[in-house]
Parts: sequence; C-alpha cells; structure tokens
Amino acid sequence: MPTTLAITDFDRTLFSPDFYQAFIEAAINGGLLAPDATASIQAAINDPNKTIDLLAALGEHGVDIEAAIRLARATLAPNQFLYPDALGFLDRASAAATVMIMTTATGRYWQSIKLSMCPALANFHQITLSGNKGVHIKANLQRRAGRLGLRDLPNQWFDSIMLVDDRVDALMPLIGQSDFTLWHVERPLAKYQRERDYVGIRHVSSLNEVQFP
Ligand SMILES: [Mg+2]
Repeated sequence: MPTTLAITDFDRTLFSPDFYQAFIEAAINGGLLAPDATASIQAAINDPNKTIDLLAALGEHGVDIEAAIRLARATLAPNQFLYPDALGFLDRASAAATVMIMTTATGRYWQSIKLSMCPALANFHQITLSGNKGVHIKANLQRRAGRLGLRDLPNQWFDSIMLVDDRVDALMPLIGQSDFTLWHVERPLAKYQRERDYVGIRHVSSLNEVQFP
C-alpha cells in the first residue's frame, strides 16, 4: 500500500482563532484585565499582516499570564476550538497516512498553550517553526529511490506528501514538486484570502473535501 505523509497546519486550519477572544474574555471575567484595555489587542488580532503572541500582548497590559492560562484551562473545554470538521479529517488522515501537525508561531509558549488546549492532537507528530512552512519542507525534503522523506521524521520514507494549510503562501514554495498534493483550506472570513486560483494547489472550503491518495 502506498504510504503518505499528511502535514497539516494548525491555526485556522484545525484550530479556530475564536480562542483568542475566549482567552481574553476569560481574563476579563477573572478580573485580570480591564475590559477597556482590549481595543488595541483586538486590532492586532484582526490585522491580517500580524500573527500575534497574545501572551506577550496581555503581558504588556500587566496581565498575570500564568493566572490567565489557569483561568482559560478551567473555563474552556478541551478541544473546544477545533473546527467542526477537524476531528473527522484527522480520523481519515490517520487511517490513510502518517500525520504531522506543522505550525508557525510568533511566540512558542503561546503556541504550546493553544496546542495543549487540543488533547485530541496530542498523539500526532507536532512541530513548531518560526518561518514559512513550504520553505522549511522544501529545505528538509529528501528523495531516495523514488521515495520522499523529511528530516523532521528521520528514517521514514513515503510515496507522497500532502500539505494542508489556510495560507496560500505556505503552499506556494512547493508548487511543482513531484509526489506532492497541496490543499488550500479557505475558512469563512479567513485571513490570507487568495486573489486567484493557483495551478498546482487545490482550493477547498472545508477539510471534508480533502482527499487522500
Ligand atoms: Mg494557519
């Protein structure tokens, strides 16, 4: 049976940014943050050119970060911010492929908090980068006897690799690589909307439309 490595993005692909708002509300309700302090943070969250480290932003407002994390863990449900199609997708993916969750972070601690809110993802390979995912994959790709490997997963070889991401710019560096399939998941109201179709990228509106080899 052909083997596949399915690499999926985290933020806005599996995980909803509604978490940011819920985290802020938990901090306000817990008395850690003044309600009127949130306008500038809110603007940064909504800025398509920024991926914010919410912990750093809250820290600048004098919020006790560890207390805010405890409050979020106490008041928000595990896996609550996974999109409704995420778990079904991961079930299909793990039946058909080796799954890796590859995420890009401005703040690694904040990213680790978000991932830890999703215990359903704990058993998958997880790696956090600080740069462009497609560039990283291209730089760490190995080809041997017609098979593909990634230095992040030593000694594992695949017949194909797929990357699923809400950002076209993460997928673009891999256009034209043989034995790759590239899936662009466009969430409603997502940042990073594309302006046109890209040859070599499949644009879908839900993870339910992503197919495995
Ligand atoms: Mg993303």
